Amino acid sequence: MSMMKRWHMALVVVVSLLVLAGAYLFVQARSIEVEKLSEDLFVLRGFGGNTAVLRTDLGAVVVDTMTLPLQGERIRAIARELTGSETIMIINTHYHLDHTHGNPAFEPGTRVLSTERTLSHLNVLDRGFWSEDSAALLPNETFTDRHTLSVGGKTIDLIHPGPGHTDGDLVVVFKDEQTIHMGDLLFNHHYPNIDLEAGGTVTGWPSTLQNVLNLDFDRVLPGHGATTDRAGIVQFQTFLEQLAETGRQAVANSWNLDQTLANAPLTADEGYEPIVFIVSLGLDRTFVITRTWEEATGNFKRLN
Ligand SMILES: [Zn+2]
Repeated sequence: MSMMKRWHMALVVVVSLLVLAGAYLFVQARSIEVEKLSEDLFVLRGFGGNTAVLRTDLGAVVVDTMTLPLQGERIRAIARELTGSETIMIINTHYHLDHTHGNPAFEPGTRVLSTERTLSHLNVLDRGFWSEDSAALLPNETFTDRHTLSVGGKTIDLIHPGPGHTDGDLVVVFKDEQTIHMGDLLFNHHYPNIDLEAGGTVTGWPSTLQNVLNLDFDRVLPGHGATTDRAGIVQFQTFLEQLAETGRQAVANSWNLDQTLANAPLTADEGYEPIVFIVSLGLDRTFVITRTWEEATGNFKRLN
């Protein structure tokens, strides 16, 4: 075989592999599983944060929209199938792209709710995505601490219980279903992202969870992981308290990062798994201890 032919064949193989990989990613990204929690409340699971869909007499309410506009299209279609009507309201629990980048697939003019801090983070920390057409699906109804909604016969409380994952997260209380969606204030048996740059905090997170535990509910949707209950929040709170203790010991003993990783008094993460989408996203034990050490020693910079 001539050199040229061999090169050509290699190129064909590489291009074919790339096309296959692209098709695989496309199929993976489009695949969404539905869990029915009650007659009117559903959880959608796919690449990104967990989405909730609530049926009301006026239309569907969607909480978080995953990672890609093409997923937003799927969520919109599934919400229509499940509820028999269009989406009239989106609630974004916080600004991260795996909870918001599906927004642009919805009808411009849809009510989009978030905290003021989340809108600020979207505009400052993710400005590239939210320019031009996408800007029509930015939050257009914001609040600081608490916002109560009556929508088509359902009552929904939106509560900012304090800082943790970022400084702008909200909890959605579906009053009629005795269920809350906690966004990324709760990772269920997964290591959490801790966004110090956007006001997240390990030390403040446990008391924020206490504020959530003081609310009235039975069932709990985490931002990532399986549906759980109060005990799931308490378990994650214990994990965060141990992390916060790690930070205190690091400062008290002047540990560098390696010493902190080696000596961290962290046991409540038994059974925790790093989140994987085809490959690990890097949210593991080393990551959370590193972030804790950075917060405790001031080795990070607030970006907004
Ligand atoms: Zn997040």
